[in-house]
Amino acid sequence: MALNWVEERARRISGLLRARPAHGICLARPAGMARPPGVARPAHGIHLAAAFAVAGALAGLLAACSGATAPGSAPMTGNGVTTGAGASAGSSTGASSASTGSAGTPSASASAPGRPLAGQVIVLDPGHNGDNWAHPAFINRLVNIITEMKPCDTTGTETDAGYTEAAFNFNVAIRLARLLRAEGATVILTRTNNHGVGPCITRRAAIGNRAHADAAISIHADGGPPGGSGFDVIEPGLVPGHTNGILAPSHRLALDIRNAYHRITGEPYADYVGHDALDVRTDLGGLNLSTVPKVFIECGNMRSASDAAKLSSPAFRQRIAVALAAGFTAFLAPAGGATPAGQASIPGAPG
Ligand code: ZN
Repeated sequence: MALNWVEERARRISGLLRARPAHGICLARPAGMARPPGVARPAHGIHLAAAFAVAGALAGLLAACSGATAPGSAPMTGNGVTTGAGASAGSSTGASSASTGSAGTPSASASAPGRPLAGQVIVLDPGHNGDNWAHPAFINRLVNIITEMKPCDTTGTETDAGYTEAAFNFNVAIRLARLLRAEGATVILTRTNNHGVGPCITRRAAIGNRAHADAAISIHADGGPPGGSGFDVIEPGLVPGHTNGILAPSHRLALDIRNAYHRITGEPYADYVGHDALDVRTDLGGLNLSTVPKVFIECGNMRSASDAAKLSSPAFRQRIAVALAAGFTAFLAPAGGATPAGQASIPGAPG
């Protein structure tokens, strides 16, 4: 028992030490990578930084990112993806069960009052996973995202208090799933608990594709500079022969998500990344490989004390979920689900 406790403690400390810097390195855009024409943006913060510009300063942490020294590593079993059938979110567990989601059916009446999303399929991808840090061999294997080879998955960032991005992402996703199902949507999550590993970013995209999702989102919180704050929505850039068909609808989705998020959460546009809380990227597998309208959102900056306080609040996370649901409704059912500006009532959230 004591040994287990010590081992568990060591694993936890190791995870704490590794998670923050690893996020920036592992998810970062390689320096010199071509940006989509006409998209000007300031240098990214840590989470989305030009990786090799900060690689020197973080050189000592690079090994941790690659997982070379990770204690507690364990061989994976099966495909290494713990999606947890019968998970707490009550969702289906991936593409193979896309049509068997526990709530909502595509055949439900689209005109049913209060169910503006009936017939719509929405895929929610909570970024990272709670045990990724302990399985570097699995998450660091390279996968093809068309524009480059990237690690299968990464650990994510966390607040100074140790609230992990993986936990945040998953908590927002299950809150959002409940709201969307209540509006009639069929909701599929790419992972259904926060104690597994992966899945790879390629699989996360494939789940949305196989479900023929009407819209998809990858939920994240950033590991930006401590002095930076705000949120940012990332949409796909042109990857010829791959993303052509999703650019326009994904842009509309980005605008609807951004506008609803800003209005309902009150979170400002990021002041260290993107432009008016919008960014376009071609180095994210979740976007490059998507055949359905999709965006990423960085809900705030976990490295900022003020944003971290908000992101750590269950009430604020509920507000985030309400905002994202409103964004999806504006995108998928603009006539049936218009949300008045300054929405007075936030379901499930204390005023
Ligand atoms: Zn992330």
